[in-house]
Amino acid sequence: MALIFKGVREPVKIGYPYDYLIRIFTVAAIWSHRTKIDLRISSINDHKHMQKSLHYEDAAVDFICQHTNGRKNTAAHERLATYLRGQIGPGYDVINETHHVHVEFDGYPRNI
Ligand SMILES: [Zn+2]
Repeated sequence: MALIFKGVREPVKIGYPYDYLIRIFTVAAIWSHRTKIDLRISSINDHKHMQKSLHYEDAAVDFICQHTNGRKNTAAHERLATYLRGQIGPGYDVINETHHVHVEFDGYPRNI
């Protein structure tokens, strides 16, 4: 199972691979291998997001769970979100946006 970088309308871009960004990939890849569910990374610092979005700071990632045939597996999104919330550590927020899972690092340790 794998992390698949594939944007919705344009290539996925990263301005700088900060450690906190790499941490998101690491934890997501472990989940992907354990569950055997592919994870498509559909956006980082690209596309259009809300003004002041952490996507523009290389600090947010959007994930789409995929079946092996490439179709969306939205039923798995809550499982992914729950795992990330439990494992990724303080300073991150994980939001299940239904059509994707948004993960961002804002540095505020809300969970401790
Ligand atoms: Zn997002």
